Amino acid sequence: MLKRVLILSIVVVVVGVQAARSQPSPAGSTSLPLTAIKAGRLVDPETGTTATNQVILVEGERIKAVGPGVAIPPGAAVIDLSRLTVLPGLVDAHTHMAITYKEVPENNYYYLTYVMDSTPLRAIQAASNGIQMLSSGFTVVRDVGNNALYADTALRQAIEQGWLPGPTVIPSGPMIGGTGGQFWPTPEMYKQHNIMYPEYIDANSPDEIVRAVRENMLFGARTIKLCIDCKPWGYSVDDIKLAIREAAAGGCKVEGHVQTPEGAQRAIDAGIYIIAHGNALTPEHHRQMAQKGIFLAGTDTPLTNYRGSEAAFKRTVANLKDAYEKKVPLTFSTDFDYWNERMKDEKTGEWLTRGELSINFLLTWKAAGVPAPDILKALTVNGYKAADVDKERGPIKPGMFADIIAVSGDPLTDIDAVRRVQFVMKNGMVFKREGVMAPEKFFHPGPVRGWRQR
Ligand SMILES: [Zn+2]
Repeated sequence: MLKRVLILSIVVVVVGVQAARSQPSPAGSTSLPLTAIKAGRLVDPETGTTATNQVILVEGERIKAVGPGVAIPPGAAVIDLSRLTVLPGLVDAHTHMAITYKEVPENNYYYLTYVMDSTPLRAIQAASNGIQMLSSGFTVVRDVGNNALYADTALRQAIEQGWLPGPTVIPSGPMIGGTGGQFWPTPEMYKQHNIMYPEYIDANSPDEIVRAVRENMLFGARTIKLCIDCKPWGYSVDDIKLAIREAAAGGCKVEGHVQTPEGAQRAIDAGIYIIAHGNALTPEHHRQMAQKGIFLAGTDTPLTNYRGSEAAFKRTVANLKDAYEKKVPLTFSTDFDYWNERMKDEKTGEWLTRGELSINFLLTWKAAGVPAPDILKALTVNGYKAADVDKERGPIKPGMFADIIAVSGDPLTDIDAVRRVQFVMKNGMVFKREGVMAPEKFFHPGPVRGWRQR
């Protein structure tokens, strides 16, 4: 036992030294690096207000001081964003980093994607998608299922350990549902267990629900995702309550995938934290969600030349408008998990990135008439709360992690300004400057931030 303790403490010391090494120190000092950001305009999305000529002092990974008169210590690196608008990083509250279904070869039929793309391939896609999201200013993503055998928790661990840049990932692990999840498996698929699994965890009884929730948390989930009504029998109010209790024991909140009005009502009655997909919700559901403070991740797909139909878009816009008017706590969410040959910038002909495709969901929000300050709230404040990271990330205030972006223009009057992300800082390190990714400080040949990030 003593030997084990000794080895552990040596490991702790080594990890500590390596973590310190990964942060460049100012000359002649062993303390954390200091960075001073000069913000021409600093937006507080909570209040919808802007302060001018502010200095944000960042020490190591966190914000140390903010204000107009903050002194810049000698030796601090100075970043001049005096011509830009500075704000907290953005949140996609419902996305899928490790699945990309396509028109060719699978005709958007994602059952085939599960068969054809391995977990390792999908994990590498997720790493790429994470970098693309961060470049568009998304510093937090909720990554909620359909990620093969835990490619999502692997992505979180890899980013937290310090292998590569990416947003803070809140992964769910595989979605938990009755047999088949979102699939209608054949007996062959079900009994062989190796085609449709690991995409979903079957949980058909209280014991199995508890086991599934614990399994996901054991393998690195930070939120729990339930298929509420993927089958007509679905989960009962008691089933959902049980999952919520068990998830809480591991510090996780529960999101319900909802596709029927009946399922929505059961999720609301159980007091679920987030409802995913707005399509099946009625005005009465919106009223109840507002009253109970249940977050909506509506996944509001816009109508574009690469996706959507006019009829579906009309419905989506009407639903979002009603949810906004009823004061449901709204998050910005995309459900992004597909790709096709038309996803190019119409002017330049260049491929759109996963980040650009995600922020393009602004089209729906604008069509629903949501004012810019409230869209920005959905993209930030509500996203941080829905992701359950709001005690550590979000507001540009002392003590918080320094996840900071800067855009040209004013997102409080023209929300499209957030499409023009010129600067990204994640955990106090610069990822993008002057509109160009400069991520070299994020890449390491080992888990420099600690192998214990599990
Ligand atoms: Zn989804």
